[in-house]
Amino acid sequence: MSVLNLKFGVFLYQPEPVEGVDYNFYRLKSESGIVGKPNPKMYTNIACFGDNYMAAKRPDWVSISKDGPSLRTNKKYNLRWDVVCMTNPEAREYNLKIIAESSKVTPGISISSQHFAERDFCVCPRCVEQWRQSGLNWVDWRAKTVTEFLKEVRDVVKNKPLFVNCLPDPLLGKSRFGYDFEAMAEYADYFVIPMFSKAYPTPWYWETIARGYKSFLKKPVFVNFYVRGPNETWDTVAPTKQIMTVATRAARTGIDGIIFLAEKAQWIQEFQKNAVADKETREFLKGHGGDEVLELFNRWEKMLKA
Ligand SMILES: [Zn+2]
Repeated sequence: MSVLNLKFGVFLYQPEPVEGVDYNFYRLKSESGIVGKPNPKMYTNIACFGDNYMAAKRPDWVSISKDGPSLRTNKKYNLRWDVVCMTNPEAREYNLKIIAESSKVTPGISISSQHFAERDFCVCPRCVEQWRQSGLNWVDWRAKTVTEFLKEVRDVVKNKPLFVNCLPDPLLGKSRFGYDFEAMAEYADYFVIPMFSKAYPTPWYWETIARGYKSFLKKPVFVNFYVRGPNETWDTVAPTKQIMTVATRAARTGIDGIIFLAEKAQWIQEFQKNAVADKETREFLKGHGGDEVLELFNRWEKMLKA
């Protein structure tokens, strides 16, 4: 028998928690840049430099490369959101203040987009000057910059749990985003790897990324799957069966937790109901080595009957 110690969470855009999971995260500030009010019953997620609102309000904050700005409209890069320059003292202070205030009133903090937009960012005059003065090569300077921001976050989060999100590239994370995983592990309590997709027909790839990250990260590793984000219908996202399967397959890689993203509690409750009702998939997934996910469905079944 395997030891059951996998944790489960949800990642929600509205401050209403759900039952049946260990962690409720509220996206107080998603990459939309809109800032909500912390819910003392939920962990708080803050997207730092991915900030569509500030990028529009303060175009001078947007980070730049030889191939244009870090905006969604720049087709050289597949940016999911607009990104402001992370060496901008005003942008740092703005985010640190939100993090510090949330940390005081909620059980813990999760941060996202606390890094550079992509490998060619940022070459604004301030970044170039800081890079020159550091005496480091480009990749190391960027990684040091990301780690130093994380240290500042750690200082304001104090002793509350700190979850650090890293984009799903275990191979080139350092040169692309400035992740020095070894150094980051000194300040992070948990790493979270978002694995967002509107379909999971081929779990093999997600399983591979999860196993890769788990093989070298020095802190517990969570992955995050996409159930139903904002502006979706049940027809535009993965069928429940695919999410049940990819979660079970990821669980067997030895990761420490699985999170499910939804716009709001109601979509998670529907997902829970649908997963419980799909007896055929639950039966099929037995023997895959991800029993903790099947146990989760059993717990949800009891919870829904009560
Ligand atoms: Zn810059």
